Amino acid sequence: MKISFFGAAKIVTGSNFLIETRNTKFLIDCGMFQGSKSINRMNYQPFRFNPEEIDFMVLSHAHIDHSGRIPKLIKKGFKGDIYSTKATVDLCSIMLPDSGHIQEMENEWDNQKRRRSGEELREPLYTMKEAEESLRYFKPVLYDQKIELNEEITLRFRDAGHILGSSIIELWIKEEEGKETKLVFSGDLGRRDRPILRDPYLIDEADYLMVESTYGNRLHPPSEDDAKELISIINATVKRGGNIVIPSFAVERAQDIIYELNKYYTEYIKNKDQDFLNVPVYVDSPLTASATEIFLRNPDCFDEDTLNLIKIGNNPLDFHNLKFTKTVEESKQLNLSRESKVIISASGMCTAGRIKHHLKHNLWRKESSIVFVGYQAEGTLGRRIKEGEKVVKIFGEEIQVNAEIHSLEGFSSHADREGIMWWIKGFKNKPKKIFVVHGEEEATKEISRKIEEESKIKTYIPELGESLSIEGESVLSGGRLEVDRKNKELREMEESVEKLKSIFWPVLQRLGHKTDHGADSEELNNFKNKLMDIQKDILDLNRLITEKKKEGNHKNKS
Ligand SMILES: [Zn+2]
Repeated sequence: MKISFFGAAKIVTGSNFLIETRNTKFLIDCGMFQGSKSINRMNYQPFRFNPEEIDFMVLSHAHIDHSGRIPKLIKKGFKGDIYSTKATVDLCSIMLPDSGHIQEMENEWDNQKRRRSGEELREPLYTMKEAEESLRYFKPVLYDQKIELNEEITLRFRDAGHILGSSIIELWIKEEEGKETKLVFSGDLGRRDRPILRDPYLIDEADYLMVESTYGNRLHPPSEDDAKELISIINATVKRGGNIVIPSFAVERAQDIIYELNKYYTEYIKNKDQDFLNVPVYVDSPLTASATEIFLRNPDCFDEDTLNLIKIGNNPLDFHNLKFTKTVEESKQLNLSRESKVIISASGMCTAGRIKHHLKHNLWRKESSIVFVGYQAEGTLGRRIKEGEKVVKIFGEEIQVNAEIHSLEGFSSHADREGIMWWIKGFKNKPKKIFVVHGEEEATKEISRKIEEESKIKTYIPELGESLSIEGESVLSGGRLEVDRKNKELREMEESVEKLKSIFWPVLQRLGHKTDHGADSEELNNFKNKLMDIQKDILDLNRLITEKKKEGNHKNKS
């Protein structure tokens, strides 16, 4: 089989892997490249495969850097099914059309420039309508169910704990009778003990693993610390009369922030904390509002704490001064009123959407605060502000950066270096090789080193566009765990043989003693023959054990 890394290789975005087996060609993810202009341009390059020849696709989660080129894939002739969890289908049903809308607007903006400079006009990557049409290819699948996609390929989704509906992908690939290879794609891995979602599922075994490494060279502060920090930033900013602008991904991060604020507001009401400033919180992103509704429709993805809150009637994604703005007018109004407020808006990396207006109105104000709560890709407006640029261009206008800039990594929904290592150490049967993907170069290198040192598993960092062949594995039946089970059986048999030997030895000695005192020679010969047969059996068994052991060791090593 062959794996080609057509996205998220030595880069975080554009997740797209092609797997070619003897009879099947399928994709894992078909995400958008996001970042600088040159990175964005990669979305317009033709696919490195023929979409018409792809049998189906498996989607890890709804984030645009994993799903964002699906409408383009379909536009270019893909006709297969797209398998993902139900919550992922729900989220894609709002995120892909939103992305189509952004594509249309940005293309129109670029075309105006092209018109002026006499360049040829260009089509958007895809339209909102095309994105809507792509939704009928989706096939929702439950977590934890093994599904035979065809004779060669079996699929199972496990909870990745990264965003609602996110999954780790397990694939069993049988290219010929008696040979099976298990591939595991971590997808984007979440963190333990985060609000709303369950912890990432620990996988037992894999022949080959592909692991994300977004924060492979970072350690996140505990999320409770950052939740407290956020409250103190809000209070301090309100005291000096500024606004708190939080650029946030519409899915998960925004809900995490709402969850933490709800927790704080609930505490406030309980404790009648007079110092607390009654600050309105606006969610100014129609996409975030829709995503929040989808969260409430998929409680089966929630962790126990969140379900318990719901049971006692506390909607964890709502509190009394939380307001969702809908119209553009309402959004504009936020920047006209002088009242201090929290504004949660998208896009998370400040590349599009209403957040750009809020930055334009608040970046220059030294009393305001901008709080980053998520990953900012190289080349994005968010990254430039976060890295301390003093002047940035928004809608063609130069804006001074005077506001306080904060970055709270504790809200990240990606596992950090320790989180990734915790998850990798969960494998009972180690993969023979780990491909490190979905990270910038430094992060991939650092986590690779760490994996090789601590887990003694070989790693490989694929190049963007690289294709690798993977050999099918000989298995007795049903995969590596089966081999291990048989090895254990053989070990037990070996012990039995040793026990038998220890029983026979005294018998033999006794017989010898008996011979000295004139035992029946025929009886003795019979016994000797029987003993020789048993010894032969023992030898055969020993040989079998050694062979099987070698096979097992070889499998574990290679
Ligand atoms: Zn993601």
